[in-house]
Amino acid sequence: MLIKIRNNLWQVGGMGITDRSDAGVFLLRFGQKAALIDAGTGRDHAGLRKNIDKCLGPNVQLEYLLLTHCHFDHSGGANAMRKDYGCRIVAHELDAVYLESGDDPVTGAPWYGAQAQPFPIDVKWKGDHCSFSVGNGLINAIHCPGHSPGSVAYATVIDCELVLFGSDVHGPLHSDLLSDEKQYLHSLTKLLELNADLLIESHFGAIEPREEVNAFIECWRSPIGVSHYAVLYAPDDWDSRRRKDIGGKKPE
Ligand SMILES: [Zn+2]
Ligand SMILES: [Zn+2]
Repeated sequence: MLIKIRNNLWQVGGMGITDRSDAGVFLLRFGQKAALIDAGTGRDHAGLRKNIDKCLGPNVQLEYLLLTHCHFDHSGGANAMRKDYGCRIVAHELDAVYLESGDDPVTGAPWYGAQAQPFPIDVKWKGDHCSFSVGNGLINAIHCPGHSPGSVAYATVIDCELVLFGSDVHGPLHSDLLSDEKQYLHSLTKLLELNADLLIESHFGAIEPREEVNAFIECWRSPIGVSHYAVLYAPDDWDSRRRKDIGGKKPE
């Protein structure tokens, strides 16, 4: 099973498609070249490959594997994907370091009952922005730290629509993951300003139209959103800060 989202854009992996612990895996095709956004945990590599091959067809080359961030549900299957397709793995340097060293806490691997396996990143980029040409298309990478130090959102245009791959817009924030609340809220503002027509969120799937995209992002920026991720994954001092945010009321 796979989900066609647009012409030349599919969800090829994720809960309900491949392993239930996989974050969303998305394939973008531009002419004879393609890029994969994230790789899942690697627990259903065969299923993921089958879906990718169906979308690629016989003459299309998978050129890049663009990682949104280092967490195991997004990156666990990356190395196997490169072995099979010869694609170059891309990550922001601030997350690449944890993938290359196989850092358990920061990649969140133990949350999935796994151990991080170190692997090299082919393209480690720095700074705020970077662009990747893929066939006749262009994918812009935008550094959106907060959930992890090197979290990245990707943006591209398909049939005149701005499509945004928003990584884990919903957080969570946790000290093991080196999350940073201030950076996270700033990154959400950055994503809002893009005014995307379609948001592809790693665990929530496709969100559209533009009003829904903005409402979704806005929700995670609001005290209600803050209370949701805080309840699940509270860093030590979070509770007191959250109560202040929502006027002293404990969320339901
Ligand atoms: Zn995730
Ligand atoms: Zn994550």
